[in-house]
Amino acid sequence: DVDFIYEALLNTTIDIDSLEADTHLDEVWIKEVIKKAGMKLKWSKLKQDKVRENKDAVRRPQADPALLTPRSPVVTIMGHVDHGKTTLLDKLRKTQVAAMEAGGITQHIGAFLVALPSGEKITFLDTPGHAAFSAMRARGAQVTDIVVLVVAADDGVMKQTVESIQHAKDAQVPIVLAINKCDKADADPEKVKKELLAYDVVCEDYGGDVQAVHVSALMGDNLMALAEATIAQAEMLELKADFTGPVEGTVIESFTDKGRGSVTTAIIQRGTLRKGSILVAGKSWAKVRLMFDENGKTINEAYPSMPVGIIGWRDLPSAGDEILEVESEPRAREVVDWRKFEQEEEKNKHDLKIIEEKRKEHQKAHRKVLEKYSSLNWKQRLYVKYLERKEQKSSKPKEKERKDSNVLPIIIKGDVDGSVEAILNLLDTYDASHECELELVHFGLGDISENDVNFAETFHGVIYGFNVDASKAIQQSAAKKGVKIKLHKIIYHFIEDLQEELSSRLPHTV
Ligand code: GDP
Repeated sequence: DVDFIYEALLNTTIDIDSLEADTHLDEVWIKEVIKKAGMKLKWSKLKQDKVRENKDAVRRPQADPALLTPRSPVVTIMGHVDHGKTTLLDKLRKTQVAAMEAGGITQHIGAFLVALPSGEKITFLDTPGHAAFSAMRARGAQVTDIVVLVVAADDGVMKQTVESIQHAKDAQVPIVLAINKCDKADADPEKVKKELLAYDVVCEDYGGDVQAVHVSALMGDNLMALAEATIAQAEMLELKADFTGPVEGTVIESFTDKGRGSVTTAIIQRGTLRKGSILVAGKSWAKVRLMFDENGKTINEAYPSMPVGIIGWRDLPSAGDEILEVESEPRAREVVDWRKFEQEEEKNKHDLKIIEEKRKEHQKAHRKVLEKYSSLNWKQRLYVKYLERKEQKSSKPKEKERKDSNVLPIIIKGDVDGSVEAILNLLDTYDASHECELELVHFGLGDISENDVNFAETFHGVIYGFNVDASKAIQQSAAKKGVKIKLHKIIYHFIEDLQEELSSRLPHTV
């Protein structure tokens, strides 16, 4: 019995009641229970084998303020679709490309640095849209210091503008407003500012602290003013980081590059990343083989707020994953191992909870069935079950309306109740898929009797006998009454015969 296997595998006590109740478990369920029981057993063994303790890597405690050094801001550009986010990012990037040595190829590493003439730098995340932003936030990653909210001056505040504001507020990140498309004739920057008041974004003109810069991303107008406003905002935030000790950072993007394999781009948030550093992120680890910047140039060191491409990952971590430096490769393996173990255990716990719930439900249902049938004899029980199943089936919508002529009334006789039950079950599955419906009018044990023949005559049915006989007298009586008697000893022949009989009852189509 399945429950026995389950309980035996789990090594717990067996509830005799439930054993009896579960004798009608369906096959799928049986397989599932065995599988899950085996899984749980395997798992508990594994747990015993290795006494597990938390081996995870974590961020260091907050640094001593004396160790903190100013760092540049990390900015996300957000706003409604078509308001000019991509154009703005492209233009900002190009201000740098122009300053770059000839021959450099811009690489997409999910973020880039813009250096102002004053020497200050801004890191722009160039995965625009708030999907990336919220994906990271959902993972608890906070890489953005400032949101540049782009609003087209000819269009005003739109749905995603409002969503962007909400994201920034949820993350407690200040906004710098870029009123874009100011080159357009119908641009109305003042209207934008007024509209934003309704969302608690109050520009300086209105007595608030949100800086608004009128720009044209397309023409490249006033972009430096936007960058300066961003720097001014950053200064108020007094952004600082600890440039020493093991690295901490966040994965911005992760992808497989044809030539270089698994590449992860990241923003460093603490420490200084160097070649050879051992990192863990999510369930992957890396020995840093190569680092490069957004110009594809190999770099030797990456500091806080710097975007960097990292090569050397074993697997791909996900955007938003926390990056932590550990002391050695064995330690990295240990951390990743632990995380995988933990994840699997979580999943396992969840699976087993569901299985346990299902099992209980199942037991309850079968107990009810038992109660209902306990006062009936085997024959009554079978018939009640047969009727119940039939009812269940007829409550389901049928593909085609069955005609009366498509019903085959049958009488079943068997040698023992087990065989009758087996046949009834078979009929049941057979019945479900055919246009001709089986109608069980009578069934019982023993040889074919006159009574059976009478039944068959009344209902225009066929008598099927399994491992039973029909005497000469009965056969003659049946022949006289036009009743077919079919006797079989092999269930397979029985079913074949039944199929033939059924198809002969179908109206013949030309
Ligand atoms: P995104 O969906 O926010 O990334 O918007 P895009 O940068 O793709 O810009 C949408 C359209 O607006 C494109 O056709 C751009 O050329 C245009 N556009 C973007 N910025 C400006 C601008 O400052 N002035 C004008 N006139 N058109 C702009």
